[in-house]
Amino acid sequence: MLKQNFEKIKSQIPENVKLVVVSKTHSPEKIKQVYDFGQRIFGENKVQELAEKYPKLPKDIRWHLIGHLQSNKVKYIAEFVDTIESADSEKLLEEINRQAQKHNRKIKVLLQIKIAEEDSKFGLNKTDAENIFKKYLAGNFPNIEISGLMGMATFTEDENQIRKEFSLLKNIFDEFSKIRPLKTLSMGMSGDFPIAIECGANSVRIGSAIFGNR
Ligand SMILES: *Cc1c(COP(=O)(O)O)cnc(C)c1O
Repeated sequence: MLKQNFEKIKSQIPENVKLVVVSKTHSPEKIKQVYDFGQRIFGENKVQELAEKYPKLPKDIRWHLIGHLQSNKVKYIAEFVDTIESADSEKLLEEINRQAQKHNRKIKVLLQIKIAEEDSKFGLNKTDAENIFKKYLAGNFPNIEISGLMGMATFTEDENQIRKEFSLLKNIFDEFSKIRPLKTLSMGMSGDFPIAIECGANSVRIGSAIFGNR
């Protein structure tokens, strides 16, 4: 089942689009199965869960933190996290930078942009994101690499709505990329990744379509 789901998703994703397998709520044993299929990038949304799983799994996994991150928790993952996809404030970037410095490394970060109508979704507005990006380009946060943008669409059946939100993020991505080329545009989950890819995503975060419903 797991293998079939994984292969099916892989077959639906073009080669230039990165797959982040979202493993939240799933055991290290299950994650290891997907690892053995060849997958190396996994995403978790909670710091504590990620910090508990990390020592139990192979060290060549590239862990992405995809959920809301409080500044005081950065220290628990700073030593090993590959990418923090959910950077949504300057204060958080300052703390990520400080912790990365302590471990003498660079942490990749995506700026999370709020594109959904729902109030529940976190994220920066475009102006704040642009200000942070410019500070970064001016030399702030030397132990961070801002490698792209992340966004989540409204949870809705309305494809037009979803398409509109992803297109908005793609426009922001293109605009920022004119200032300095960005690599990663992370948008799309199990329910909406084909639309996200159509709209220009080059990284998708997929959990339930592979592991089943949580
Ligand atoms: C859980 C989660 C996903 C994956 O959602 P699925 O619907 O299970 O594919 C993607 N991104 C974020 C930020 C998540 O929290």
